[in-house]
Amino acid sequence: MRTIGLIAGMSWESSLKYYQFINELINKELGGLHSAKIIMESVDFAEIESLQKGGKWFELEKMMTVIAQKLEKAGADCIVICTNTMHKTAPAVQDQISIPLIHIADATAQEIEKTGLNKVALLGTKITMEEDFLKQIISDKYGIDVIIPDEEDMKLIDSVIFGELCLGKIDSTSRKLINQIISRLVSDGAKGIILGCTELPLLVNEKDLLKQKGIKVPLFDTTLIHAVAAAEFALVEI
Ligand code: GLU
Repeated sequence: MRTIGLIAGMSWESSLKYYQFINELINKELGGLHSAKIIMESVDFAEIESLQKGGKWFELEKMMTVIAQKLEKAGADCIVICTNTMHKTAPAVQDQISIPLIHIADATAQEIEKTGLNKVALLGTKITMEEDFLKQIISDKYGIDVIIPDEEDMKLIDSVIFGELCLGKIDSTSRKLINQIISRLVSDGAKGIILGCTELPLLVNEKDLLKQKGIKVPLFDTTLIHAVAAAEFALVEI
């Protein structure tokens, strides 16, 4: 089995899910007492968030690169950045390491491809929704149209992520509001919804969406999808 290098802590609430999913998937495949070989560095998310808000992306690239190099030196066979937003630094990180970085947008687009959907909506932090670092891979490399919510809805989702979910708070009013946003995006033609923030699956799920809004739409859980891609990488015979 190959060793997975996790850059975690963004937030630790969702990193827990990565750790759980990867171990469950490896155990499901190998059985018995098998579990995943993981080397993890978990950051202080307050430092990351303040650099993000200050637009200090060069510093963030440096920080992620140093961690990825450390994990590679420690024996990791791949790098997994456990957040969508921080994939803004992925090209810079990949440039400075010689092991593959498993990109969350590739993993997600490949999963959407399997369903044959050609238009999806992307929910995530404001940075993830507004900027191109995920959208462009999904649309240009895989030919899948990506739409995003309007400005006001983006602000709301961003504040739920940083003000609630990254603090471990699950609020049913916020769930209703986000389900409302999803319902608007479905009216705008989205055939599927990317939960493009690793905390969003803690709040939003297909069952509640159907119950509250009567909408049956596939949700692409990037935490699970990314964890599956990492586990599959670890299990490939070399
Ligand atoms: N975990 C979130 C994401 O997937 C937000 C945390 C961050 O800003 O990195 O984008």
